[in-house]
Amino acid sequence: MKFSNTYIKLGEQFFQRTLPEKVTSPTLLLWNKALANNLLIPENVQDNHILLSQYCSGNQLPHGAESIALAYSGHQFGHFNPQLGDGRAHLIGEVIDKDNARRDIQLKGSGQTGFSRRGDGKCALAPALREYIMSEALFALGVPTSRCLSVAATGEMINRGLTKAGAVVTRVAASHIRVGTFQYFAARGDMTSLQALVDYSIKRHFPEIDADKTGSNIPLSSDQRILAFLASVIGNQITLVVEWLRIGFIHGVMNTDNTAICGETLDFGPCAMLGEYNENKVFSSIDEYGRYAFGSQGKIAQWNMARLADCLIPLLIEVSDKKLTKEEQEQQALTKVEALIHQYTDKFDVAYFTMYGKKLGIKDTALNNKSLISDLLTLMQTQNLDYTQTFLQLTQSLTDDVKAQELQSKLGDWYQTWLVVLRQEELEHESHPQNKYQQAQDLMRKNNPVVIPRNHHIEAILEFCENAIANDLTCMKNSTKEVITDTVEGFLRVLRSPYQEIEATNKYQELPKDGDRYYQTFCGT
Ligand code: AMP
Ligand code: MG
Repeated sequence: MKFSNTYIKLGEQFFQRTLPEKVTSPTLLLWNKALANNLLIPENVQDNHILLSQYCSGNQLPHGAESIALAYSGHQFGHFNPQLGDGRAHLIGEVIDKDNARRDIQLKGSGQTGFSRRGDGKCALAPALREYIMSEALFALGVPTSRCLSVAATGEMINRGLTKAGAVVTRVAASHIRVGTFQYFAARGDMTSLQALVDYSIKRHFPEIDADKTGSNIPLSSDQRILAFLASVIGNQITLVVEWLRIGFIHGVMNTDNTAICGETLDFGPCAMLGEYNENKVFSSIDEYGRYAFGSQGKIAQWNMARLADCLIPLLIEVSDKKLTKEEQEQQALTKVEALIHQYTDKFDVAYFTMYGKKLGIKDTALNNKSLISDLLTLMQTQNLDYTQTFLQLTQSLTDDVKAQELQSKLGDWYQTWLVVLRQEELEHESHPQNKYQQAQDLMRKNNPVVIPRNHHIEAILEFCENAIANDLTCMKNSTKEVITDTVEGFLRVLRSPYQEIEATNKYQELPKDGDRYYQTFCGT
């Protein structure tokens, strides 16, 4: 495994050099073999659990790794905080994976940094496991996400009101550059660093912007490059949020410091899954005003993109036509970014209705079936229908008369209208439709999960693991580690097959008894 650290080359203003804190007695609890293989980690290293527990707890840095904490700012619940940064994370380097993609390797919960403010720099076991499970689930569902390579228990107690077992999670992401990273330099008026960050981000995430596709050898002008960058980040955010909505994911803390420009899901603190459909659903205890409710995520991502645009305006002004007055330069820059922020709405709508079209087996819906889709969502909301179950039943109902009758009685005329739309599409697109609705059902099967990481299952597993380690923090008994590994892996086996039932799937399909009405998530540090 060869480490590099191209981010360090950006300069000292982008990070602080800081080492992970040593821990007394690390134990490797979870190791993501599939991800490790992707990262080309050699088998002999993967087999050496003693060495891995040293690496994954931060006790020892692998050869070539250099540890830094990243600087960034962020809007948290709408309020700007100029000084955030990694308060409990250490980026130890980048590796090139099997697909030739550069991936950041970061330890989280690995001790205090210069950005820790009042925090202890640590992470409790339950939030570490939650990040591991949720990110693996999202990955298997096909949602862009950062992933976890490992969870190591530190053998130490940490204080979270009650004492809890400490852990370090190793996070792998396309990068940890956030909207908040741009805000950090914009807030300081550091245009040189801001431009360097744009250049770095284009090279790392959007190389097509600089590639000469036309063969004309005319590169984009400086302002076109910046705008193309903004448009690309916006495109990634739309894809991401629409995918969250498809599977019923509520991020819970869509602050700009948690918005990765690569478009991967970042930060699983207070996230949750939607049970009964309700666009206003909020589970996070700190989201008092429902800013990050399920159905608000599209609008919030647009707001976050407007904050990125704010940072780019001064750069656009810098490269604008010097014959214009200052006011004209400003106006021109504003007009250009505003156009992209406004276009977000239409682009989002197309992606949103196309996604719901597919969930309903309709291939070529962009906006044609808007009311069919919104009517279903309204019906689900007024009848408190489970989101995942309803789409699954709709899928099954195409070949199961009992399910069809059940749904017909719940959804009334809507159900017939839907079948008519499916039939029309079939007649238009297939010269010889063989089995009625077969293509529709195939499409639905790919877009509607049979199982999701339901909140009550996650919580039961986290509680079980916390209890298992409570009396054996250092995992002296082999059984402590084994029981945690087996419990999490058992759940993950099911979650890794989200579109197909396997033997144990039905263990994790039942709905929460109270409809998750009293369920709350916490920022989980
Ligand atoms: P988050 O809620 O995880 O997005 O974190 C927001 C900010 O608080 C980031 O700068 C984190 O690094 C920092 N932070 C969260 N928990 C801790 C902790 N236990 N110790 C130090 N910093 C923390
Ligand atoms: Mg965060």
